[in-house]
Amino acid sequence: MANLKFQRPKGMHDLTPLDWEYFQKIFNVVSNIAKINNFERIETPILEKRELFERGVGETTEIVEKEMYCLKTKGGDELCLRPEGTAPVVRAYFENGFSEFPQPVKLWYFGPFFRHETPQAGRYRQFWQFGFEILGEKDYILDAQIILISLEILKELKIEDFILKINSIGNTCCRGYFKKGLVHYLKKRKGGLCQNCKIRLEKNPLRILDCKDEKCRQIVSQGPQILDYLCEECKNHFFKVLDTLEFLEIPFELEPFLVRGLDYYTNTVFEIQEKQSNLALISGGRYDGLGKIIANKDLPGVGAAGGVERIAEILKEKKIFLPKEKFPKIFVAQIGELGKKWALKICQQLRENKIEIFESLGKDSLKAQLRLADKIKAKYVILIGQKEALQESAILKDMETGKQKEIKFEKIVKEIKKLL
Ligand code: AMP
Repeated sequence: MANLKFQRPKGMHDLTPLDWEYFQKIFNVVSNIAKINNFERIETPILEKRELFERGVGETTEIVEKEMYCLKTKGGDELCLRPEGTAPVVRAYFENGFSEFPQPVKLWYFGPFFRHETPQAGRYRQFWQFGFEILGEKDYILDAQIILISLEILKELKIEDFILKINSIGNTCCRGYFKKGLVHYLKKRKGGLCQNCKIRLEKNPLRILDCKDEKCRQIVSQGPQILDYLCEECKNHFFKVLDTLEFLEIPFELEPFLVRGLDYYTNTVFEIQEKQSNLALISGGRYDGLGKIIANKDLPGVGAAGGVERIAEILKEKKIFLPKEKFPKIFVAQIGELGKKWALKICQQLRENKIEIFESLGKDSLKAQLRLADKIKAKYVILIGQKEALQESAILKDMETGKQKEIKFEKIVKEIKKLL
């Protein structure tokens, strides 16, 4: 492998047929939950204008500053591989005239995203996300609904070891006061901060709150907390969200230093983290200011996005979901020109009747075909030889008992259905 001339780009993966089984399982659960909750699917382009993310996600965020894959087209447009889904969905809301629809508009998506991060376990440069967005209404109950739906997905997938962490980062106004208080506090302790946070102090001080460096955490833990700075309206909104979670008997942990890496959030932010690794599986929050940034129009919104690879890894590791048997139980073998043609016809008939079969019509040698039947652990072999083809019948062999019988072509579908 190491000396292959071409290898996949660092931090990116092939989705093998086995991976796809897990993705498909997650997709089925997500799309089902979307359907029963009246969300409609939207898929935005993989490429968007660079400015959409610079303005929407925030120029000083790590995602925009360091992690975007950007390119200039021949026409001179500056485009980026999308690093997240909310800004594109909000753009699409305006561009497609969704404000004319009954509000709120509920949308969901499932696709690949790109961030030039340092690859490590659960952190890739191309990763898949599913996401849910509720646009056009500002009510605390919708924040709770998004959290409930996120939890429903994990419940449906039988994932249990997670914790819901929640915080409010207020609106731009009360956050401004908090930022001032935080910077005032941190400036006096700048020497103790890590190199990154020294820069963040000038550029995006809120991000210091969720720095993983032990010394930074120590300093931050004794500093001002955003909840003390919230205005009456933001406090009210947040308390109502928490109150609803309590009403729904959803356990949560108040996490005063949770800020999330995207500037568009207002009020509620949350992460559902895997207990063992602390990796976020699904995260989201409210973003009432994003419409103004993208289209100069007010558009309240709340949403969440989940990491498909991270969830798939849990399903795989904990053996919660076992992909179905890879190969069907029936193998169709053939000998001779006429046998081959009839085999193709019979295979088609069986498949039209939703009977899964395996064949290798391109092989002439019966021995090679039977070896393959053995390899895939076929329980039955349908053999169509030259002689059988002339009599319009096949031999059905039970591979476990070795017993075999002749079946007329016209009865083959009925007989096989009986066996399954
Ligand atoms: P975010 O858009 O940062 O709110 O992320 C939403 C979800 O996507 C997270 O909760 C993770 O599960 C997943 N995620 C984010 N970044 C990555 C990454 N680099 N690799 C894999 N999954 C990711």
